Amino acid sequence: EDIEAQVFIFGDIAVDKLGNADPCTEGPCRWNKSENGKVVIPFMISHHFHVGEVQIIREAMEEMQQATCVQFVEQTNENDFLAIQSRDGCWSFIGRRGGQQPLSLSKYGCVVKGIVEHELLHAIGFHHEQNRSDRDSYVDILFQNIYPGAYPQFRKQNTNNLGTPYDYTSIMHYGKYAFSRNHKPTIVPKPDPDVEIGQREHMSQMDIYRVNVLYECCE
Ligand SMILES: [Zn+2]
Repeated sequence: EDIEAQVFIFGDIAVDKLGNADPCTEGPCRWNKSENGKVVIPFMISHHFHVGEVQIIREAMEEMQQATCVQFVEQTNENDFLAIQSRDGCWSFIGRRGGQQPLSLSKYGCVVKGIVEHELLHAIGFHHEQNRSDRDSYVDILFQNIYPGAYPQFRKQNTNNLGTPYDYTSIMHYGKYAFSRNHKPTIVPKPDPDVEIGQREHMSQMDIYRVNVLYECCE
């Protein structure tokens, strides 16, 4: 398939040949807002998922809809939409990239509500928390403990932080041992190294707030 040939995966973030590193916060890859103020994200779920899996995906969407102005709708005639498929691993593009946009939730480990929410937040426009432009003030990245092939995962991004503070509790934060090659930590919070990071239970209050700020849904 065409799309697949173009996709290159860094960790769980897909980039296409154009290598667009834009953080999507400037507008062009935001999803459209409808007249009722909802940010509409059309999607289709592959028929390869069984009923229970579809239900988990829908629960994640439902939880995000309750908390934010984002609304997931079944794709009908929209040109731009998320094609949720079970491919190799859990991954997504950042923001709306145009056309049919794959978002992979492998049946073997990715169909978990918190992981679905994490990938959907990528599709909404968010990078990993530890790659924020100001991350060096909040975490140390220990490259000596990271698989060299995974270095790109830890590259700092020129993110628009929306005036919000760094959030260790974000569902978009990696855990302390992400991509470790030696069982030693790869991310160490500072000044307190014991702060917990890497939860995949639910969106933090800040994750929710940022969706609403990015899409100008805050009154
Ligand atoms: Zn991710």
